[in-house]
Amino acid sequence: MGPSVDRQLGQSFWPDLGNLVSAVGRAMWITLINLFRKPVTVHYPEVKRVYPDRFRGILALTYDKETGEENCIGCRLCEYICPPQVIKVEMLKAEKRNFAKTFTLELYACEFCELCVQVCPTDAIIMMKSFDLATSDRRELLMDKDRLHNIGLDFEPSWATGNGLRDMQTPPKAPAAHAPEAGPAKAEDKPE
Ligand code: SF4
Ligand code: SF4
Repeated sequence: MGPSVDRQLGQSFWPDLGNLVSAVGRAMWITLINLFRKPVTVHYPEVKRVYPDRFRGILALTYDKETGEENCIGCRLCEYICPPQVIKVEMLKAEKRNFAKTFTLELYACEFCELCVQVCPTDAIIMMKSFDLATSDRRELLMDKDRLHNIGLDFEPSWATGNGLRDMQTPPKAPAAHAPEAGPAKAEDKPE
């Protein structure tokens, strides 16, 4: 390094040092301000946030509120539509209606796409306003029918049901076109 380079370095040292001190000072000021701010985090799970109305989390099966019967009729539409094929249903034929003999859902591989909810004709499978199933054992996320029904009882349901979603997505019907009323025949219409 020659003397001219040394001179240039010496000239930029003090401005650079000033910039560094100023930047550190500003960062520390921000840190100090944040020390006295109200925290935006909560002590989960002791404190739980209120989830937004449109929150859609874990899947569950439902009972009919009036009869107490399982809503699932074992039609397997959810099984056919599911992209990663994580639902398996066996139908049980009965006299008045059908049921799901078995219903399993591999929740660990679910994409939460909601397609199963959208196709369900009886609103039997829905999403809940919770994601609270964290576990270190994947086997706990292999859901059977009883477990899915219990989740349906334990958590608050999302607003979205198959019938509700289909109603919402159905395009409005065009108003019926009125045929022109037949009026009295005009004089010029009469044959001569
Ligand atoms: S949310 Fe999607 S991926 Fe999950 S079970 Fe339903 S259809 Fe399958
Ligand atoms: S959850 Fe709904 S779509 Fe799936 S088998 Fe039962 S009734 Fe059919």
